[in-house]
Amino acid sequence: MTTREVEWDDAEQDWMRALSQYRATLCPLCGRPIEVCTDPANEMRWRSGLPTRCHATTAVLQAQEGLGKKKKQSRHTGALLWSAELNTS
Ligand SMILES: [Zn+2]
Repeated sequence: MTTREVEWDDAEQDWMRALSQYRATLCPLCGRPIEVCTDPANEMRWRSGLPTRCHATTAVLQAQEGLGKKKKQSRHTGALLWSAELNTS
């Protein structure tokens, strides 16, 4: 039998539990309180402006498009971990 050492004390575990409970109240799509963004009374009250482009995601999508042209490497692309780094030079 394996015994594991507790990594977090009781207070830290309480904080993590509270954080988990808080996150469960948020919409997985927009990140707002789910009772607000799904409230039928608010259906026509939301407004959206022009989008802001995420250049890091753009770079990843461009890299994925390039990989899609390489037949062997484009298999199981859902298993690839992509990243983008900000070049500050
Ligand atoms: Zn939402």
